[in-house]
Amino acid sequence: MTDVTDIFATLEYGPAPEADGEVRAWLAAKGTFGHVIDGAQVMGDGFKTHNPATGEVLAEVSQGTAADVDAAVKAARRAQPEWAALSGHQRARHLYALARQVQKHARALAVLETLDTGKPIRESRDIDLPLVARHFYYHAGMAQLMAENLPGREAIGVCGQIIPWNFPLLMLAWKVAPALAMGNTVVLKPAEQTPLTALMFAELAQAAGLPKGVLNIVTGDGTTGAALVAHPDVDKIAFTGSTTVGRAIREATAGTGKALTLELGGKSPYIVFDDADIDSAVEGLVDAIWFNGGQVCCAGARLLVHEAIADRFHDKLKARMDGLRVGDPLDKCIDVGSLIAASDCARVAALVEQTEGEVYQAGPVPQTGAFYPPTLITGLHSSDPLMQEEIFGPVLVSTTFRTPVEAVQLANNTRYGLAASLWTENVNLALDLAPKLEAGIIWVNATNLMDAAAGFGGTKESGFGREGGWAGLRAYTKPVGDAKKLPALHIPTGEMAAAGPLDRTPKLYIGGKQARPDGGYVRGVFGPKGACLGEVAEANRKDIRNAVEAAAKASGWSKTSGHLRAQILYYMAENLSARADEFAARLHAQTGQDGTVEVEAALDRLFTCAAWADKYEGRAAGVPIRGIALGMPSPVGVIGAFAAEQTPLLAMVSVVGAAMAMGNRLVLAAPETAPLTATDFYQVLDTSDVPGGVVNILTGSHAELAPHLAGHMEVDACWSFSSTDISGVIEREAAGNLKRTWVNYGQAHDFAAPQMDRFLEAATEVKTIWVPYGE
Ligand code: NDP
Repeated sequence: MTDVTDIFATLEYGPAPEADGEVRAWLAAKGTFGHVIDGAQVMGDGFKTHNPATGEVLAEVSQGTAADVDAAVKAARRAQPEWAALSGHQRARHLYALARQVQKHARALAVLETLDTGKPIRESRDIDLPLVARHFYYHAGMAQLMAENLPGREAIGVCGQIIPWNFPLLMLAWKVAPALAMGNTVVLKPAEQTPLTALMFAELAQAAGLPKGVLNIVTGDGTTGAALVAHPDVDKIAFTGSTTVGRAIREATAGTGKALTLELGGKSPYIVFDDADIDSAVEGLVDAIWFNGGQVCCAGARLLVHEAIADRFHDKLKARMDGLRVGDPLDKCIDVGSLIAASDCARVAALVEQTEGEVYQAGPVPQTGAFYPPTLITGLHSSDPLMQEEIFGPVLVSTTFRTPVEAVQLANNTRYGLAASLWTENVNLALDLAPKLEAGIIWVNATNLMDAAAGFGGTKESGFGREGGWAGLRAYTKPVGDAKKLPALHIPTGEMAAAGPLDRTPKLYIGGKQARPDGGYVRGVFGPKGACLGEVAEANRKDIRNAVEAAAKASGWSKTSGHLRAQILYYMAENLSARADEFAARLHAQTGQDGTVEVEAALDRLFTCAAWADKYEGRAAGVPIRGIALGMPSPVGVIGAFAAEQTPLLAMVSVVGAAMAMGNRLVLAAPETAPLTATDFYQVLDTSDVPGGVVNILTGSHAELAPHLAGHMEVDACWSFSSTDISGVIEREAAGNLKRTWVNYGQAHDFAAPQMDRFLEAATEVKTIWVPYGE
């Protein structure tokens, strides 16, 4: 027992343990936990959950089977229509009640979270719990505002949500609050290591009168998660966790029509310029990499420091590391708690042991429990495995840079794209670089800021979809109404006619030039009654590679202003209008329909796209800090798209126009029944100042091209409006680089209705840029 006089003598911290009696009494009273299904406790075979800081068993919870998952999904399905039929205000009252419950029981929830995860009570009490309450408050407001502010959208249905162990209750809040606000019901699977706060929350939700079946919790390991993903009656899967499991879920849901959002791993850069406030940047780094023991998807795990200040910065950082207190997570004076499991300590230790860099570690750490010391590794090259792989522990790797350009190159040299921190006193530099960083979240002179009002989520292999803010809500809604089934693809056939004296077989359109197809094959194009209209090239995977390369090279387009893009789109409309009769006749020849109306509609659509090019604006989210979080739409990058057969010209300009308006480059597979409309369109592009490579057009079989375009690692998104059944293949192939997909699952898209919001949303990535202000 430490005496207070000893403490005065040494000025050492005394122990400041948080009381855990109430929580332990709750655990003891329960003993064994079942799942929460349809408002009732359902017991299953048990497994133990531990306190990683001590190894003690905290409780026994149930291992969810496929039958448990099925019962939970059925309960959620039964409850959903009534829940969605409540007014927004009634749902808002429920969410408000949940927020109040969280606040009233915040201390118990924080203690339980710390016991189950090993994170310091300082963090669970001051960060996790306030953010959990904030999420329910914020989304109570969203439920209230839904009808007025999300017209034409409704709940998706039953949502399967799978969450990790690093922020168990916070991830629950991030997923449950928006889902319930929008009228969905939920089956949630917590991580096997950390199920307890979800179970306490379910109890609080019941006490607050949440209707049964609206929130179901099934505990268990990865097999329970896989059963939830595989369940045929789940409408959406929302997942946070590792990229490996995220990829497996993408593959498992491919072609099923389940909506999917993935929030995956990261290796986020923490960039410090020579003019930064170094002490603040050091303090920020403590929060970036040692918050939650570095077990944070958006942890600032890669320090990139300007070489002029690198030595001084590292020295200050080491001095600060020496002051970090690692130990009992329930002690209020502890900075760094334990990792999630002893096996994780061993994993992290093995990674550190094999490094060739210079290792500096803070110490000492407790010898029992899953503790690992805060670690800095300097002198690594950017290609070093530790610079590339997510360590998911308290290990910071560091390298230096010389110029801002090099800093951006190093920052982007990763397969991940979740977050980035920028430290400089030069606001111009910060705001110039922020858009150039390939990440969903950028913090300027800050780190790890999160809020319900600000979109959170990544790009590249950090996943897709946003949580929080308006963007997050849309992921829990769908357009109202049932789509019509697409008629089966029927490509007219006929007799080839003799080519005229001047053969005009259109080639492919790649990099702004007509290109002969690699395979050297052509196919005939016939009208609905079999009249021969000409021939088009049959593209193959090599043509796709060339087209993607051309699109990737045209990256300058993504840096142009909306104003410039608008002018080019208007110009395209002007040139299309000059050839309106020719396009109308061609449409008629290929489809048998009167093309005049469609050409008019296409001109209208190009004008709409031009109009949006400089008006699809970001938002400044109302975050509760002194500062702003800007939600900035930015281009997705290279989009691969399969054109629709119905209203082929209107459909094509909708896709081309929206993609171009938002600054993307496109590789478009022409409609198979009306390819000549696409090949005629080159001339519109050629005469409208569209830079080469911005739009590339291939003709050929969608079924043939789909796996290659969707699987290409340099394609960032893949869309399909095709009548060929390629949705499954696209989603499966997209798992490679986790590109975003927008496919039709055999449903017709009504191109006559503008629905520009859907196109613009699909054509943009919302980047959240946090800029705190004040001294
Ligand atoms: P996982 O991705 O394995 O687990 C996340 C969640 O998915 C858990 O609930 C898990 O269940 C569940 N799950 C596991 N396999 C499947 C499956 N096939 N189908 C559906 N659900 C599944 O992460 P881990 O917890 O194993 O951590 C491993 C690594 O993942 C970490 O070291 C870190 O690199 C990364 N990670 C990233 C996180 C992030 O926030 N982006 C969070 C956590 C981890 P179960 O609990 O039984 O495993």
